[in-house]
Amino acid sequence: MVDVIVIGTIGIDDIKTPFGDMKNLLGGSAVYASHAASFFAKAGMVSIAGEDLPVEHKELLEKKGICLKGVEFKGKNFRWAGSYEFDMNEAKTLETGLNSLLDFDPKLPDEYRNAKYVLLGNIDPTLQLKVIEQLREPELILLDTMNFWIDTKKDDLMKVIKKVDVLLLNDGEARQLFDTVSLVKCGQQALHLGPKYVIIKKGEHGALLFSDGKHFNAPGYPLEVLKDPTGCGDSFAGGFIGYIAKTKDISEPNLRKAIIYGSTIASFNAEDFSLEKQKQISIDDIENRFKEFREFREF
Ligand code: AMP
Repeated sequence: MVDVIVIGTIGIDDIKTPFGDMKNLLGGSAVYASHAASFFAKAGMVSIAGEDLPVEHKELLEKKGICLKGVEFKGKNFRWAGSYEFDMNEAKTLETGLNSLLDFDPKLPDEYRNAKYVLLGNIDPTLQLKVIEQLREPELILLDTMNFWIDTKKDDLMKVIKKVDVLLLNDGEARQLFDTVSLVKCGQQALHLGPKYVIIKKGEHGALLFSDGKHFNAPGYPLEVLKDPTGCGDSFAGGFIGYIAKTKDISEPNLRKAIIYGSTIASFNAEDFSLEKQKQISIDDIENRFKEFREFREF
């Protein structure tokens, strides 16, 4: 039985940051998110990979206990190339090769259809919709996306937003989607569309949680070593939904905690390329950094 399901991409990434120029890294939204969720709960992945996915990438996911029953292997793997300047809050997409993603028609294994906690990670919104249609009684659906889908599939994305409980955007995406500079206005407009909660991430500067008449301002973690922010958004989302699945509590105060757990794993993720840092950390490391978050915002 899986506690949480995650739909998204399995990627082979080429990443350039001021700290390295790396090729053929394991990436993809479903990969980062399921790995992060697995610190708290049993995650099942819904995705498509190519037959060219290196075997060590698949083994890494299996070793983490991630269920791959919802993953199809077909054709050529999804590929993404991106680069970052010294301000690493914004990725520049150099190339997106959708490849096998173009043939993907997600069919949830029967046990996944009972999942209570669902992360619609960054992928084509028409595929996110297909997943929603197959769910039996979800308790909480979290939606993530990126500028690529806002540019190319905005109408479909709007349909998905209306069906989810929590919408997750970064500040740039929120401004692009709602055509205003004010993140407060973005939050309000997003809430009017249907979600009960809206989270706007501000890169290394933290995240805002908006709900009816309330808001929470989560701090960012002051990182000393930052090598590659790829996958931080996905790791945030995965850590968030994993913690909710573990605690089975969807109240606003618990969502605040889930945001700090998500931020904690995202901050570790940025310390190295691909999943290198996430592979090394334990739940104790996460708990210790969570405590630091508590301490440094007390006044
Ligand atoms: P993040 O840095 O959290 O936004 O996510 C980066 C990951 O998203 C990379 O590992 C990519 O493989 C993956 N990715 C890049 N572009 C897309 C896209 N258009 N749809 C889904 N996943 C993508």
